[in-house]
Amino acid sequence: MARGRTTADGGGTTARGTDIDVAVVGGGIAGLTAAHRLRAAGRSPVVLETADEVGGRMKARRVDGWIVEEGTETLAVRGYDATWRLIKETGLDREDGILKVNSLAGVWRGGRAHAGTGHWFGALTGSGLSLGGRSALAGLAASVIRQAGTYDTRDPAGSPLGTGTVAQLARGRHREVYDYVLQPAVATGWGWDARRAAAAPLVATMISTWGLLGWRTYRGGMDALAKKVAAPLDVRTGHTVEEVKETAAGVRLVCADGSVLTAREVVLAVPAPVARRIHPGAPAEEQPYLEASTYSPMIRVTCLVDRPLAPPQRRGTPSVYALLIPEVEDGRISGLTFEHAKAANRAPAGHGLVSILTAPDTTRELLGESDAHVLGSLLGSAEKYAPGLNAHLKQAFVHRFPHAAPDANGAALRLHRAFLGRPSRAVEYAGDWIYQRPSSEAAVQAGELAAQRLLSRG
Ligand SMILES: Cc1cc2nc3c(=O)[nH]c(=O)nc-3n(C[C@H](O)[C@H](O)[C@H](O)COP(=O)(O)OP(=O)(O)OC[C@H]3O[C@@H](n4cnc5c(N)ncnc54)[C@H](O)[C@@H]3O)c2cc1C
Repeated sequence: MARGRTTADGGGTTARGTDIDVAVVGGGIAGLTAAHRLRAAGRSPVVLETADEVGGRMKARRVDGWIVEEGTETLAVRGYDATWRLIKETGLDREDGILKVNSLAGVWRGGRAHAGTGHWFGALTGSGLSLGGRSALAGLAASVIRQAGTYDTRDPAGSPLGTGTVAQLARGRHREVYDYVLQPAVATGWGWDARRAAAAPLVATMISTWGLLGWRTYRGGMDALAKKVAAPLDVRTGHTVEEVKETAAGVRLVCADGSVLTAREVVLAVPAPVARRIHPGAPAEEQPYLEASTYSPMIRVTCLVDRPLAPPQRRGTPSVYALLIPEVEDGRISGLTFEHAKAANRAPAGHGLVSILTAPDTTRELLGESDAHVLGSLLGSAEKYAPGLNAHLKQAFVHRFPHAAPDANGAALRLHRAFLGRPSRAVEYAGDWIYQRPSSEAAVQAGELAAQRLLSRG
């Protein structure tokens, strides 16, 4: 039987008598990927997105010649296979839409940035580590590489590290391995508390991507892929779904504006805590994983400045765009990114764009505070990492992410396989939490999986 299509203005019904064939709740990259795959398979998905634009944590805003990235920063050449498939299918690569990042990540120690964290350059210079620290890190890297074949980004708990935490991975090693490598790596990038989060997703990611080597960014801003994927889809922005309920006649969706829609099937492509709230009737077999899949919050402050600021560094070393600040150096700020060093077009010529990321405890303290309060608490302390920040500041934006990154806690990892093995149903899920990795690649993989599972229902 031919499937019916909904009209773009919401009218019409499907051949099965529901308003919508597949409702995809959430227009982040996971939901858009699911809709893209479903459409390619002949289905008629409708994406319902609460915000005014698609992208979710991959959004960017344009302000007077600056491209201000709110969440995602970069993608890798290796280990991002699902993302590159999407890039190729949408033609973004052929339109010269991808840029190589030529500057490096670095770590803060002793009053300056040391370039090369996670990169071969750091292996040469030590990237701020003592000889003892370097040798301990090399030992850890060697032991991980020996078992590289046992790590799978889609099955983190199946690795030799199981559900052991990042802090446990560092136990018994030179303390710099924790203080200047592992702890800042997960706190800056993912807002993780290294004492709680499992190490396996981090190690699996480092193995699959070959470390911080030759990373890329989208030329037009990190929302470029989401916009490209969304273009041919039926996307309804400003549409918040409050409740989803399976009924005999299909899935009922109650929206914030009071409207009620019915869909033959639904993909909930929102962070797990949101999915849990709007789908209270989720079957008992899904509840434990939904409950365990908690998120770490993050705050990112983006500062538009009238010159291209840089962190203090030794002369002649490669420029640093992502500065990791260890907890032992600063308990309040976990890192800064110098966006104009990542991609020159992020700021007008001669200007700069600098982001400040808060440390996990500071995030929790400031999440509910006003923008003025957040800026007042951070700008002064950030000055030493970006000298001139306060004098050259033109404008600043505060981006709050109550659900920034799935926090890969042990309970979630223990329940992961059982959740993936559940039978497919009319309400499916997508989002980075499906694989417990805070990465756009995990979100794209999860979108593909949700589409496959729905299509397998026939
Ligand atoms: C600061 C930061 C930096 C990052 N850096 C990187 C990086 O450099 N590289 C990388 O690969 N990854 C990075 N990530 C992670 C990456 O951004 C995410 O893993 C990915 O974008 C998640 O996509 P998603 O579709 O699962 O979720 P989201 O992007 O969160 O999408 C969910 C969507 O659902 C919508 N929504 C929520 N509730 C409702 C509702 N009730 N009704 C309708 N719509 C709703 C939201 O508005 C949102 O658009 C970063 C994340 C953050 C926060």
